[in-house]
Amino acid sequence: MEFSLTTLGSASAKPMVDRYSSVHVLNARGRLFLIDCCEGAQFQLVRYKISPMKIDRILISHLHGDHVFGIFGLLSTMALLGRTAELHIYAPRDFSSMLNFFMGHFGEGIKYPITHHPLTFKERQVICETRTVEVSAFPLNHGIETYGFHFLEKWQEHPLAPTDRYARSAAYCCDTAPFPELEEYVRGVDILLHEATYTEEMRALANERYHSTAAQAADLARRAGVGKLIAAHFSSRYKDPDVLLQEARAIFPESYLACEGEKFNVPYRRLNEEND
Ligand SMILES: [Zn+2]
Ligand SMILES: [Zn+2]
Repeated sequence: MEFSLTTLGSASAKPMVDRYSSVHVLNARGRLFLIDCCEGAQFQLVRYKISPMKIDRILISHLHGDHVFGIFGLLSTMALLGRTAELHIYAPRDFSSMLNFFMGHFGEGIKYPITHHPLTFKERQVICETRTVEVSAFPLNHGIETYGFHFLEKWQEHPLAPTDRYARSAAYCCDTAPFPELEEYVRGVDILLHEATYTEEMRALANERYHSTAAQAADLARRAGVGKLIAAHFSSRYKDPDVLLQEARAIFPESYLACEGEKFNVPYRRLNEEND
């Protein structure tokens, strides 16, 4: 049973020919969560053969364009595809006026229900529970209201299933500058997708813009004891983001680069394998 995170966009805000801005898909045993929705996100879904009809929940971290510009095209496409199932959008409060504007001009053909769940938290809080996963949101440090997300697989009681299964987890932190509480929010997750917009050389600029360097992301991953760090949201100044990977790996060897179409799977494990 799959538990995976697929990146469809690895860049920050500036348009590039071979990279998209932020959009990712978490698959929790067949339930798909779309995390952020940059311009062109729906084209990436088509390219990587991920059906928009399988997405019931969209999580928007914050209302910078590189994380949200693509959602309106996607909402229209879902209607074209004949969607009837309710769609849940978890996004900061101000998203409701954007959604109302869009629905006022383009909403006539949209027959399926769309529910906006406003995110307004000062601490980590559960925002939704499905049969397979519990999702929480927590505030990040990005100058405007921004949330990170934490996914924890739920253990289903089943007469034929083993009872000592290890619950898999992932966290998403994009965009953010470092801050002390973040370590606890992401402690021990199997996969941490974290922004690494700049290298250390640009730390002053990262600070000023409420972003992180690759070294800062890796330092967090090390302190929080995560399984794998996936660095993402690269500045367009890095034609080859390998320099970000090298910087992160020097601090946290289990660092990887987000890359369009690349999937990170968390393997199924038993609890007693933890000590092997
Ligand atoms: Zn961004
Ligand atoms: Zn941002």
